[in-house]
Amino acid sequence: MICAYCGKEGAEMHRTTEAYGKGEKMLVIENVPVIRCRTCGEAYLTAETLHHIEAIRNDAKAIQRREVNVALYAA
Ligand SMILES: [Zn+2]
Repeated sequence: MICAYCGKEGAEMHRTTEAYGKGEKMLVIENVPVIRCRTCGEAYLTAETLHHIEAIRNDAKAIQRREVNVALYAA
């Protein structure tokens, strides 16, 4: 894949878990596609992905309540 930042070959799509907001308002979205470039090291979401994330955040039916373990990186 061509990287949107450096314009060179080397971008790859990975799936990751992203968290938005904090505390009671926090929403965790799993399986988010992130593009990572092996050439320049940049990691980014496409405009289409960002748009889809906005749609998920606004769709109550897409959100399910689940108990998760949360840790604080305190250093
Ligand atoms: Zn790049």
